[in-house]
Amino acid sequence: MSFDQQGGGRSFDRQMYKGDWQCAKCGTPITELPFEPDPSRLDKLLCRQCHQERVRSFRR
Ligand SMILES: [Zn+2]
Repeated sequence: MSFDQQGGGRSFDRQMYKGDWQCAKCGTPITELPFEPDPSRLDKLLCRQCHQERVRSFRR
């Protein structure tokens, strides 16, 4: 009977990773990401807009 205090209130804390990247598609500078980018895929990063377009094309 104690589900009101799960994990000390950090479960929905969304961490942003800051850096100096560039979108592989449109060249927009990317300074924040909601995930830690894979160093081997830094040249394939997409900005938020291109990422959304890609997700949309997946969902048909
Ligand atoms: Zn882009």
